[in-house]
Amino acid sequence: MTVDRARELDEADPLAPLRERFLLPPGVVYLDGNSLGPPTVDAAERLAAVVTEQWGRDLVRSWNVHRWVDLPHRVGDRIAPLIGAPPGSVVVGDSTTVNLYKALGGAVDLWRSEGHRRTAVILTDTANFPTDLYVMGAVARRWGAEVRTVEPTGLEEALEAGDVACLALTQVDYRTGRLHDLPRLTAAAHQVGAITVWDLSHSAGVMPVDVTSADVDLAVGCGYKYLNGGPGAPAYLYVAPRLLDRFANPIAGWFGHAAPFDFSAEFRPAPGIARGRVGTPHVLSMLALDAALDVFRDVDLDLVRAKSHSLTTLFIELVDGLDVELVTPRDPDLRGSQVSLRHPNGYAVVQALAARGVIGDFRAPDVARFGFAPLYIRHVDVVDAARTLAEVLESEAWRDPELARRDPVT
Ligand SMILES: *Cc1c(COP(=O)(O)O)cnc(C)c1O
Repeated sequence: MTVDRARELDEADPLAPLRERFLLPPGVVYLDGNSLGPPTVDAAERLAAVVTEQWGRDLVRSWNVHRWVDLPHRVGDRIAPLIGAPPGSVVVGDSTTVNLYKALGGAVDLWRSEGHRRTAVILTDTANFPTDLYVMGAVARRWGAEVRTVEPTGLEEALEAGDVACLALTQVDYRTGRLHDLPRLTAAAHQVGAITVWDLSHSAGVMPVDVTSADVDLAVGCGYKYLNGGPGAPAYLYVAPRLLDRFANPIAGWFGHAAPFDFSAEFRPAPGIARGRVGTPHVLSMLALDAALDVFRDVDLDLVRAKSHSLTTLFIELVDGLDVELVTPRDPDLRGSQVSLRHPNGYAVVQALAARGVIGDFRAPDVARFGFAPLYIRHVDVVDAARTLAEVLESEAWRDPELARRDPVT
């Protein structure tokens, strides 16, 4: 019954042909694209060609001949439509963590440049991703600012309490999948004169995001999750065009200089988003990301979101009676593209699933997390995953002591 329905949904799915663009191992249901997206056929081919035909043949001339030097902008302009940004406002490079440092430090400086004299408060929530929280702490120490951390539901109240310089949030909670109302929170922050820094790591690529209509100030995001750029793919930084002249990148590097090849001893920031750059671009990973983005060409993100709703809703429906606690919001409009389930032995459950070809991941202390990337996950995969989970829970296969041994990366 359920399988038939899933098949029908897959047959009617306008995104179904995209699955063939990915290299997925047979017999595996891959529900961890929110941690590491799979390779695309395009990326695998492009990497091989770049090594032999660009790096291997044209050597250092490739910086000019193949315009490697512009890659951070070319790839940034391809990510831009996924987040509703105009061309020239997104630059690719460095990790998300490093871009957070640029954005948060830059935000505090921007706020101060508006004449504020009070201690700058960076407001965030307790559910934010640890690296985001660590960077905020480091920025606060270095800039003489203060981090205020409240429950996700208490943000608007905390904004109204005043004195907030910067609201720094991740749109989709990596652990629970809860989706923040980005336009509303951005507007509330602007009401009190605060600058917004959004981390789009778990939202870009699986739902429409519109930094322009929401008037977001700064944003960052990850290249290797739903954008499928490959392990350690560079991240991106968005700076609203209206702020570009005033934004100062706290990491002054030669590629953010107005004229890097003047080799001048004095730093002069580049005009536009180029000032968000730091050092030499990671060419191979950036080209893999560039190729991976081919899959998104002409993809309607409203369709992606609709399929994401359909996949996650089906999974929730199928696991509803099982001995796990749903921690993801039931209302599809309040969640991203993942479903998280709490189980006291969540780690062993995830391991037992992986041994059966269903790959999710585990987030401490007790959350089993399943990401549903609409470009390559089918409804029949959802049924497979839910049935396998039911089998693991009913047989208590997770009790096998072998499964409790932790690997360094969960
Ligand atoms: C994945 C993720 C990161 C990753 O940061 P890296 O510097 O690439 O390791 C940061 N923030 C959020 C919210 C993430 O989901």
